[in-house]
Parts: sequence; structure tokens; C-alpha cells
Amino acid sequence: MKKTTQLYEGKAKKVFLTDDADLVIQEFKDDATAFNNKKKGSIAEKGVVNNAISCKLFTLLEAAGIRTHLVEKLSPREMLCRHLDIIKVEVVVRNIAAGSLVKRYGFVEGTQLEKPIVELYLKNDDLDDPLMNESHAVALGVASLEELGVLKSRAEAINGVLRGFFAERKLKLVDFKLEFGRNNNEILLGDEISPDTCRFWDLDTNEKLDKDRFRFDLGGVEDAYSEVQRRVLGQN
Ligand code: UDP
Repeated sequence: MKKTTQLYEGKAKKVFLTDDADLVIQEFKDDATAFNNKKKGSIAEKGVVNNAISCKLFTLLEAAGIRTHLVEKLSPREMLCRHLDIIKVEVVVRNIAAGSLVKRYGFVEGTQLEKPIVELYLKNDDLDDPLMNESHAVALGVASLEELGVLKSRAEAINGVLRGFFAERKLKLVDFKLEFGRNNNEILLGDEISPDTCRFWDLDTNEKLDKDRFRFDLGGVEDAYSEVQRRVLGQN
């Protein structure tokens, strides 16, 4: 499979077309951004770690019957994927209060939510990815009501699979963000699932093992990412 033109360069990845119109290659970079690009930096080997973690988690989800864009891991930084028409909605699932849930609604950080909360955000950097409801999404034309229903129930199913998986690896899945896309009349999970897009806390100590270490200059960023990789891949 050969890369042809670069389709897109985002904050953490580049996407390339290939000689097969249905397939693209996602290349994971070490660049890191936070607070909608206001904080910029780099995390050594992040691209390699996030590709490895994402491939493992997508494979796990596929085995649980949840379709994803993953075709195969091509190299340390490259993932071969189905070409998606990305739905401009970021779906956030929360199990424990953190981040914007604390800021926006006054939850105490660390509060276990009785039921997971699913939120929709408009994927639009110029507007700072605003929180929205289904009516906004439909009015904006980003997805149909039926598609939004699929996104929410798919996100809940993914949460069910991932929570159990991480608990076995002594990690709390605090919250995470998902993106979906259309491919041949089907909706597939896209993008990545990694410490860039999830909050992971150590099950025993609540130590933060995710991008919050970069966001808030907590130190030990690379070590946290490789610790998650070690636990996810079951390495020693
Ligand atoms: N998230 C993400 N990309 C975004 C916004 C959020 O991957 O553009 C992830 C974030 O890492 C966290 C979850 O979604 O795991 C919830 O993020 P939150 O709404 O608390 O916002 P943040 O703290 O990132 O401002």
C-alpha cells in the first residue's frame, strides 16, 4: 500500500490517500497541543505509543462487534484505515467527573457518575468545539437524528467494552472522546483512542496517566504515556 497525496494535517496526525480509494494512511506525530492550540509542544515517541494503543483498542472493539476504521497497523507510526467521511461531531463519554465537566457544572473532580454522561461537541476549531445538543447538530446539518442515535448508543457500547478492559489493567477510564465517519452506508469509529483523547487514572493511586500531565505541566508526560502502553499491550 503506497501513500499518495496528503489529504489533511491535524494537530496529532497526518492523513494520506493511497492508491486504493477506500483506504487512507493515518500517520501519528509527536506534536502535542492543548486548549485548542493555545499550548503547543511535543511528546517524545507519542506517535508510536498512540498508534500502538489505538491499534490494540480498535482490534479489541472489532472483536466485540464494534466496527472501526482500522484495517491494519502498517508501521510504528502508520495505521491503514478505511476512508471515512468524518462526521463533524465529537462524542465525549464520562464515567468520572473531570475537565470541562468540573469547570462547567461544578462537579467535584473524581466524583463517580451514577450513569455515564454522553456529550456532543461540534468539531470546529474556529468555534472552540462548542457543546451542542441533537437539535443543534441537526440544524447545522452535521448529522441526522438517526445518525446521532447511532453515535450515542455506539459510544455507550464502546464505553462498556473499554471500561472493563482498563479495569483489568488497573486503570480507571475517566472520560474519552470519539469520532465517527461514514463509509459505504455504514458508520465506523474513526480517529484514535489514546492518552491524547482519554483520561486514565491509576486504579489505586488516582495518578493521572494522560494528556492532563502535558496540559497542566505535571511532568512525567512520556513516562505516563508509556505506562499506559505497557498496561494496554500487557508488556512487562
Ligand atoms: N478531548 C479530546 N479532544 C478534544 C476535547 C476533549 O480528545 O478536542 C477528550 C479529553 O482528552 C478528555 C475528554 O475528551 O478525555 C473530555 O474532555 P473535556 O470536555 O473535559 O475537555 P478538556 O479538559 O479537554 O478541555
